[in-house]
Amino acid sequence: MTTNLLAQDAAMLALDATMLAPQRAARQEAFDTQALQRLDSAHFLHPFTDHAALRKRGARVMVRGQGIYLWDSEGNRVIDGMSGLWCVNAGYGRTSISQAVYQQMETLPFYNSFFNTTTVPAVRLATLLAELAPPQFEHVFFTSSGSEANDTIVRMVRRYWDLMGQPQRQVIISRRNAYHGSTMAGASLGGMDGMHAQGGLPIPGIVHIGQPHYAQEGQGMTEAEFGLHAAGWLEQKILELGPDQVAAFIGEPVQGAGGVIIPPVTYWPEIKRICDKYDILLVSDEVICGFGRLGTWFGCELMQVQPDLITFAKGVTSGYVPLGGVLVGSRVAQTLIEKGGDFNHGFTYSGHPVACAAALENLRILIEEKLVEKVALETGPHLAATFAGLASHPLVGHAESCGLVAGLNLVRRKGDTVHDCEHFDSAHAVGMICRGHMFDNGVIMRAVGDRMIVAPPLVITKEQIDEMAERIRFCLDQTLIDLRSRGLVG
Ligand SMILES: *Cc1c(COP(=O)(O)O)cnc(C)c1O
Repeated sequence: MTTNLLAQDAAMLALDATMLAPQRAARQEAFDTQALQRLDSAHFLHPFTDHAALRKRGARVMVRGQGIYLWDSEGNRVIDGMSGLWCVNAGYGRTSISQAVYQQMETLPFYNSFFNTTTVPAVRLATLLAELAPPQFEHVFFTSSGSEANDTIVRMVRRYWDLMGQPQRQVIISRRNAYHGSTMAGASLGGMDGMHAQGGLPIPGIVHIGQPHYAQEGQGMTEAEFGLHAAGWLEQKILELGPDQVAAFIGEPVQGAGGVIIPPVTYWPEIKRICDKYDILLVSDEVICGFGRLGTWFGCELMQVQPDLITFAKGVTSGYVPLGGVLVGSRVAQTLIEKGGDFNHGFTYSGHPVACAAALENLRILIEEKLVEKVALETGPHLAATFAGLASHPLVGHAESCGLVAGLNLVRRKGDTVHDCEHFDSAHAVGMICRGHMFDNGVIMRAVGDRMIVAPPLVITKEQIDEMAERIRFCLDQTLIDLRSRGLVG
């Protein structure tokens, strides 16, 4: 079958050669986009994708990256407003990361850490993470992804309560519209209806409360009032379940995949107060918010709360190589170490030396180039001002940002407050229409319903933010023209 296809497709023979030397090829050689798209359709089942729809359209083939820019197989340059998938914090084309990876592969490409062994990069990375993490985080458990990190959380918090003599504390409380990954436990912790509808989820012992989404749920309240109100849903749920049944609460400091939902400042401190009151473990899922995204090393620092456990992935390696993990605070770590015996959990690639080498060099870059400070003091405020400017566009109801994540809502008619805008019918998929214009005009934004979001690489400059905003404004204009022609706006 494959042989046939290749024989028919003379261009693919040339492609085989390019696959052997992808870097050089990507820079110098032309790609047969249609052949790649055909093979992509024939063999590659993409994640979170309607494959029949993709087959009609054909996937865009990305071939090269540098800084905040990507190039596709047709030679088009695009601003990557989403850092790959919230992860390429240090930007594309970092030779020092590829060199660190190459060197580690030459020295020791793999060894496990199961049987009383360790590797140098894993030790060094664990030590550096303990230094960068908030106080009381001296230990790390490595995984290869954010989903695995959150799976680890479920087992670890239940193990903790077993060891504490309260094995009935099984329930983990999460939030609707949260994203915690795509494995059985990750998708269960997440609050996405579309995911729960497939595969018999959530698994037992995971329940959800409402999200701190002011625009959607805060009618008639100030933001500060709504923050306390939304945190109050946690206390209600704890009392409903019985406090002695609840193991932990998990949340993203700012919900990412849910649409960059930035909670009111009153929310997280109240969540922390409630967790403390009932002795419940607090888990901060920092897979997006960690490593500078919000202008602090970890998002919980910006929210001014001290969690018991932190999950991370994505930005720890800037996505160059998969790596994730759980930072374990002293409360849980001491119990696991002192009373625990064997913790029967782990992955072949826990502490993978190549992934750890990539992370070490990536973090060195973040530190040396002061990228976290730059987000806090320079680019974050500039992105905020820029998005505030975009809110004047006739299609934009309101816009918000936090560090280097931002979102704007497309509305049918603007209102005086976030609560009295007129929305589009979701069946018209206006966000996806807008995303199409962005994609065709050199800037990648993600659509979550009618909310358009960005999370650019932390290396983005103020000038590049302006360049991105100009393109966004142009594409908003294009979207408006398009929607008028479809009769969706007046
Ligand atoms: C991406 C993400 C995950 C899942 O990470 P994977 O590496 O895709 O498994 C978990 N939590 C949050 C907040 C994420 O954004």
